[in-house]
Amino acid sequence: MQKQKIAIVSLTSCEGCQFALLDLGQKFLDLMNEVEMVDFRLLEDEEDAGEKLDIGIVEGNPTTEENIETLKKLRERSKFLVVLGNCAAMGGVPEIKNYQEQKNTIKHVYKYVQGIDNPEVKEVDNFVKVDFTFPGCPITGEEFLKYFPELLEGKIPTIPDQPVCVECKKRGNRCLLLDKKPCFGPMIQGGCDAVCPTSKMMCQGCRGLRPTANVKAMRATLKNFMTDEEFENTTEIFGLRDDIEEKNNK
Ligand code: SF4
Ligand code: SF4
Ligand code: SF4
Repeated sequence: MQKQKIAIVSLTSCEGCQFALLDLGQKFLDLMNEVEMVDFRLLEDEEDAGEKLDIGIVEGNPTTEENIETLKKLRERSKFLVVLGNCAAMGGVPEIKNYQEQKNTIKHVYKYVQGIDNPEVKEVDNFVKVDFTFPGCPITGEEFLKYFPELLEGKIPTIPDQPVCVECKKRGNRCLLLDKKPCFGPMIQGGCDAVCPTSKMMCQGCRGLRPTANVKAMRATLKNFMTDEEFENTTEIFGLRDDIEEKNNK
């Protein structure tokens, strides 16, 4: 039987989500043996001939004209277009500049800003239809192994609508909220094995809002532990802020 063709394409990103795949080691290579890898620049540097794909996987932000063109071509070539990680799905860390005086932000990076492109950071689904998202910054490798075979079978997987708190409790952690420390866990899509609260760090929401997240209740709970400014700044870290505003305006 002919192997399905896939490509993993990186736009503007730190490539951490692709490295999360390589971190799976032999498990990733075994899965990739079942498919024909047309493009994955961390593993090979052969020219991508632009053939039709069963699954196109994209990481990072479409920030340059070249990125946007690559993304649109990938969509045209692919039966399924799958997004890898927080940057592509939610704007990620780069989206902070949208909220923080975009024009002034680049002055911290470039001495001379004339001629420097500084576009607004937008998520992949502003440009093309997305069939499935592997959330997180970076993605969770084990989740990729769990859902990718479903995509190969032609099915769109469903990530259960359960908060980070479920896995946090399974890991036996004492809830940070009990110690009056902030945590976004109740409104955030689980699936990361609650890695942050397990390390005594608050969940900052890199996997995005749950479909049924009650943002108002979360904000009310955190009122005593965070100022409005702290809450807003924290929601900017992983591009949650615009999703929260959209939910509040519905
Ligand atoms: S989501 Fe995180 S790990 Fe993945 S490319 Fe963006 S910054 Fe890097
Ligand atoms: S520490 Fe955070 S993720 Fe864990 S139970 Fe408490 S609110 Fe939920
Ligand atoms: S605990 Fe929250 S911030 Fe940490 S990996 Fe999970 S979803 Fe992301």
